[in-house]
Amino acid sequence: MRFKVLMSALCFAAAATLAAAVPARAEWVNRVTDGIMGTRITVELWSEERAKAETAIDAVLDEMRHIDESMSTYKPTSEVSLVNAKAADGPMHISKELFDLLVKAKEYSVITAGAFDITYASVGYMYNFPKHIRPDEAQIAKALPAVDYRHVILDVKNQTVQFSQKGVRIDLGGIAKGYSVDCGIDVLKARGITRAYVSAGGDSRIIGDRFGKPWMVGIRDPRKGEGEVIASVPLVDAAISTSGDYERFFDEGGVRYHHIIDPHTGHSASKVRSATVIGPYATRTDGLSKTAFVLGPEKAMEIYNRIDDIDAIIVKLDGTVIYSKGMQRGKATPPPPPPK
Ligand code: ADP
Ligand code: MG
Repeated sequence: MRFKVLMSALCFAAAATLAAAVPARAEWVNRVTDGIMGTRITVELWSEERAKAETAIDAVLDEMRHIDESMSTYKPTSEVSLVNAKAADGPMHISKELFDLLVKAKEYSVITAGAFDITYASVGYMYNFPKHIRPDEAQIAKALPAVDYRHVILDVKNQTVQFSQKGVRIDLGGIAKGYSVDCGIDVLKARGITRAYVSAGGDSRIIGDRFGKPWMVGIRDPRKGEGEVIASVPLVDAAISTSGDYERFFDEGGVRYHHIIDPHTGHSASKVRSATVIGPYATRTDGLSKTAFVLGPEKAMEIYNRIDDIDAIIVKLDGTVIYSKGMQRGKATPPPPPPK
């Protein structure tokens, strides 16, 4: 994996100047946009020409708006909302894009022993974190049988989806941001861009380096402010996703209710504070970053260690940090000490 090679390079040759010659008029162009998919989108890229860079960023944002339109459950006209309304009635023909993503979602459910499950929404739709609303035990018990990724029946030949029973709902909130980041990167690559960073909320992907240096991606300290990191990971040509119990939550009676739901119980999955997954594609790292919340740090790390192209950093409930095998030699760089 390239990011591993790079991490050991960073450990042993951190002070070496690797910077190649930088072309004269080219520059880094950066844009931060709020609101698409209910999150913050950042695009940064290296371009020989400012105007071309701005058009490329526009194209990335257009692509993300399109994904939001088709996959958001907040939009009643989205394709996913139509599936939720009709797929229990019989096989429903859907776009190739949505079909392929549903296939991937199922794959991640299998890999994570059901921890990742887009049918979490059959219970999940009853939570409203900004409004501090949660279902009671009776509501959860009634809706829980509808939570099971095996209820989503996909027919490749006819490109259809069907729910095996009424009450099943899907939500792609646990994978769509990573997917949109991968699509954004594809848009940039098609325009000949070779050095770029695209992020949507907690999901990011990088192509190329920063002229001999890696991109440094900070992992937030789950119990501190946004700028406070527990570690920075040097990355080249890699994706990284972090899930945290501090993203969308409310505390009530000493319990934290937050947006990652355990498909087996219908309650918030609270076995870790945060989980970061590093790999080649953001769709994949996004799909895998919720696992640790549901299965706990040890079981999740076992799964992460078993997957060849994946590494992980987990912040446990006691605040200690554990690393997957591939990261143990060249651990992420700790943040600098606070100013005295
Ligand atoms: P972000 O939305 O900031 O990328 P995450 O990647 O941690 O955050 O994804 C959290 C989202 O995943 C939730 O808001 C919800 O839409 C979805 N989700 C919650 N529980 C599950 C689950 N068990 N399996 C799949 N998706 C889930
Ligand atoms: Mg995510």
